[in-house]
Amino acid sequence: MKALLCEDDGAIRLAEQPDPRVEQPGDVLVRLTLTTICGGDVHLRHGVIPAEKHFVMGHEYVGVVEAVGAAVETVVPGDRVVGAAIISCGVCDRCRVGATQGCRFGGILGAGRSWGGFGGTHAELLRVPFADHTTAKVPDSLDDEQVLFVGDILSTGHYGARAGGVAPGDVVAVLGAGPVGLCAVHCLGLFGASQVVAADLEPERRAIARRLGATATVDPADGPLTAAVLEATGGVEPDVVIECAGSAATLAAAAELVRPGGSMAVVGNPGTNRELPLIDLFNKAVTYTGGLARLDRMPELIRLIDAGRLDLRPLITHRITLDEIVAGFELFGERRDGVVKVAVSI
Ligand SMILES: [Zn+2]
Ligand SMILES: [Zn+2]
Repeated sequence: MKALLCEDDGAIRLAEQPDPRVEQPGDVLVRLTLTTICGGDVHLRHGVIPAEKHFVMGHEYVGVVEAVGAAVETVVPGDRVVGAAIISCGVCDRCRVGATQGCRFGGILGAGRSWGGFGGTHAELLRVPFADHTTAKVPDSLDDEQVLFVGDILSTGHYGARAGGVAPGDVVAVLGAGPVGLCAVHCLGLFGASQVVAADLEPERRAIARRLGATATVDPADGPLTAAVLEATGGVEPDVVIECAGSAATLAAAAELVRPGGSMAVVGNPGTNRELPLIDLFNKAVTYTGGLARLDRMPELIRLIDAGRLDLRPLITHRITLDEIVAGFELFGERRDGVVKVAVSI
């Protein structure tokens, strides 16, 4: 099959690779139809997320099941599915208590041996382990683009709103309106937030945030971020701050902005240890949560998309084919041409 390889120096190239196949009873083999490029792929390529190189990249996908292992119960060949970017078994002691990020048998698709040794989605075929737990069927009423983000960034944005405990009437600030932040903004409508203030440096992203439900947007380049957010809320300190950038500046701003007794949900990968003003958070009795996508709500998110309650297609700013993916990485990595997400058809 044709697949995108990440090599030692961060070089990427399309190459012929052996076709994956069903290996374990819980596996399915998926013929991929649509994938996309994630910030996580760029981080893996350049070592921001450390990983042993020489692997097939990509972790977001839609595809059609081609073969199933003997133990698979929820899908059959011919079913169209989306799948979780983060693999977890669903049955180990950690998965059973909901700590799927720490699954004893899990990892991340398209990230090489350092992250479980699974295949990637920038390819024609993918072996999906623990398929009853890691895939969700797509109804015929929805096309691939409508569900493309279910298995990663939409689940992450939704998790940010849930982890922050957003309740009807809450004032919420979303710091960083990249792909994950935009998904968080859009999901906040489900939770009844009264005000959603999205902050991002890029005007195109602020415009999409408004389209997806932000009641106000701020440009951090205009001055102190905290002052700009408070001006946008009419002086109300946010009940919840969802941090989606992972930078030192946005983490500090989140800690400063959140009201006493409020919540700070960090779903932007900080990449490294960052400082937080713990005494300020302590004195304000702030609840801190964080982590990777929680992928336990994929069927629910698909139903919400089908019901017209969620539509993330405004994130797709570019459409290319797998043959053009190397150029797509450069465009996405350099944030040229107002890019938010690049849909890659296979
Ligand atoms: Zn991702
Ligand atoms: Zn597990």
